[in-house]
Order: sequence, then structure tokens, then C-alpha cells
Amino acid sequence: MEYSVRVLERTWLNSETFELTCTRPEGFAFAAGQHVRLSCDDLEREYTIVSATHEPFLRFLIKRVPGAGLSARLAEIMMHGLLRLGKPTGYLTFQPTDKTSVFIATGVGVAPFVAMAASGVHGFILLQGARDHSGLFYRPLLEGAALTWVGCLSGEDTARRAGSIFHGRVSTYVSDHLPHGNYTFYLCGSHPMIHDMTHLLDERYPAARVYSEAYS
Ligand SMILES: Cc1cc2nc3c(=O)[nH]c(=O)nc-3n(C[C@H](O)[C@H](O)[C@H](O)COP(=O)(O)OP(=O)(O)OC[C@H]3O[C@@H](n4cnc5c(N)ncnc54)[C@H](O)[C@@H]3O)c2cc1C
Repeated sequence: MEYSVRVLERTWLNSETFELTCTRPEGFAFAAGQHVRLSCDDLEREYTIVSATHEPFLRFLIKRVPGAGLSARLAEIMMHGLLRLGKPTGYLTFQPTDKTSVFIATGVGVAPFVAMAASGVHGFILLQGARDHSGLFYRPLLEGAALTWVGCLSGEDTARRAGSIFHGRVSTYVSDHLPHGNYTFYLCGSHPMIHDMTHLLDERYPAARVYSEAYS
């Protein structure tokens, strides 16, 4: 099943990351956290939908990767240009349990958790990793929905500000600060982060269920 959607808006959230808004095809249903294949001419890649399941438009959070790939093309695509969209797939969707959900994301890997928060999921712990403050995308929405939100900044010369900011990687936060508890973990971001975090969680929380999705 393939749809055709029109690009309506592009908003830059920092120097390398933008939100792309497209029309939503009639009858197009998805679960918060799912991704779709976006195609433009000869290029196709997966992108997670960040909009709420009930919103009239589809929004995507996209990092422009250097080179001539699809993200670079979408960073320049003309407004009202057409894209092809595959059917939504993916299993990084919220699974309600009596355990506390811990979402751990780096960079644009926060996308599934944005869709979940926008669609009404709340009461989770979110560790949002970024190099600096400009990478803490959708912070007001996420802080509002979370029981605990922590921005983990890995950059070296990050200006210190008040609030729930931890200066270090998400993995350091988990090893040094996340209390023992009954958790379900959801991981999204780069392969190295997912790899390291999976090992760490296996050691520290061997009984916990871990869902993950790697972007690069
Ligand atoms: C299930 C799934 C969901 C995804 N959702 C999103 C999303 O919501 N937003 C998003 O921006 N991307 C997402 N991606 C990544 C996306 O599909 C592309 O891989 C990415 O946009 C790069 O594609 P490209 O054609 O521009 O570059 P390519 O020419 O395909 O890649 C160039 C190089 O960049 C690397 N790369 C890919 N992504 C990144 C990154 N984020 N940071 C640094 N290097 C990277 C690739 O591994 C490759 O080595 C998702 C991937 C998967 C598998």
C-alpha cells in the first residue's frame, strides 16, 4: 500500500534537525511510535511519525545527514512537493503494564516518544540524550507528560542551566543515578547507544523487558 502526500511545512529545530509536516491521507491510521517508508524519486528511507495519532497532519523529526541521501533532499524539498509514503510498521509502541516505563533516546531517536506523549501516554521516565540544549527537541511536551524528565547533555562546553539537566551520557545516568526498580525500558537512537545500553540494562536490570529500535 502506498500513499502520496504533499509537503506543507519545514521548521528547523536546530542547525541540523528539522520537522517536516505533510498532508495525512484519508483513512491513514497508525500507532504512536510507528514509522513509515518515505520515498522521493529514487530514494527511500524509514522515518518515525512524531505527530499524535489524532492530528490532521503527519509530522516527522529529521536529522540532515551530510551527503546526497534522502534526509539532505528533504532538507531542501520545495513546499507542496510530493512524497510517497508506505504503510506504518514497527513495534516500538507503548505497552501498558504495572511497571514504570523508562524511555531512553538520543538525538532524533526521541521521535517515537514524542508521538506517544502527544497521543496521551504519560507518567514515564524519559532520559533524553543530546549534545547540547538545542538537541532537546519537544522538551515542553515531554517534560509535561513525563513523571521524570532528564536531559542528558554529552557536549563538553554546554552552558549550565537550572532544571533537570544531567551533564553526561544517558548510559552514565543509568549506571550512576537510576534507582533500582521494576521497569520496562524503551530505547531508540543510534546502534552504538542501543548496543551499550542493552548490555548495561542486562547487567543492572536482568529481569526487565527491553524494547528497542536503532536508526543508524
Ligand atoms: C525504523 C527506523 C526509523 C527511523 N526514523 C528516523 C527518524 O524519525 N528521523 C531521522 O532523522 N532518521 C530516522 N531513521 C534514519 C533514516 O531512515 C535514514 O537512515 C537517515 O535519514 C539517513 O538517510 P540518508 O538517505 O539521508 O543518508 P544515507 O546516505 O542513507 O546515510 C549516510 C550515513 O549516515 C548514517 N546515518 C543515518 N542516520 C543517521 C543519524 N541520525 N545520525 C548520524 N548518522 C546517520 C548512515 O548509517 C550512513 O552511514 C530511521 C531509521 C529506521 C531504521
